[in-house]
Amino acid sequence: MTAAIEVRDLRKRYEGVQALDGVSLTVPEGSFFGLLGPNGAGKTTFISILVGLVRKSGGTAEVFGYDVEDDYREARDAIGLAPQEFNVDRFFPIREVLEHKAGYHGIPADEARERADEVLKRVGIYEKRDTRFDWLSGGMKRRFVLARALITEPDLLILDEPTAGVDVQLRHDLWDLITELNDGGTTILLTTHYIEEAERLCDEVAILDSGRIVAVDSPEDLMDRGADRIEIQLRN
Ligand code: ATP
Repeated sequence: MTAAIEVRDLRKRYEGVQALDGVSLTVPEGSFFGLLGPNGAGKTTFISILVGLVRKSGGTAEVFGYDVEDDYREARDAIGLAPQEFNVDRFFPIREVLEHKAGYHGIPADEARERADEVLKRVGIYEKRDTRFDWLSGGMKRRFVLARALITEPDLLILDEPTAGVDVQLRHDLWDLITELNDGGTTILLTTHYIEEAERLCDEVAILDSGRIVAVDSPEDLMDRGADRIEIQLRN
């Protein structure tokens, strides 16, 4: 079976910082995979390499068998990304933003409209379809960023700390939504600082620290092996 993500000895050096220091990781197709680590561990760098925003310094990275640099288009088309930092066109109604993105990915206009409506309903902000991104509440912005990741019906959904700083209701809504997507066959890669979130959602978790993978296991086994220590480490 092709892995959703297959990374070998992945390295990234920024000026003076070794952000990834030989990361090897396999994310099986269909899994719900957690990537945990403290601030600065290299999680966002890892994701940025997968989606082609950052060039790796060494090693290999494939998404569904496509090299993220040599086969950029194929690899990128398979991924829906909900990033930590919102970077959304602020001047158009959100439904139009989704239609533009679908158009960019070669989806015909009438289908783009249908998909936009569908994902807006799915994340619970359809009634805001004619509103600009700027005018949404913080929680609605989170929902919209997820809708934008889903518009291309990706096989791999990458969520970079989707529930950081959100209220309990939204956190539970997002959990339900992404669990439903995973049940439907979408592979999920989730980064989080919350071990309890990983425990609740993920089949497997990798812990990244200072650019290295220090553990890969089921969340239950990680908890058994000293989660308190891990949690303290993550929260520091
Ligand atoms: P957080 O949980 O705080 O988002 P992270 O695990 O996502 O952290 P990264 O953002 O990948 O970590 O950062 C890894 C390291 O690389 C950090 O030391 C960071 O300061 C550094 N870094 C990230 N981006 C750049 C950049 N563009 N130039 C230089 N250093 C960078």
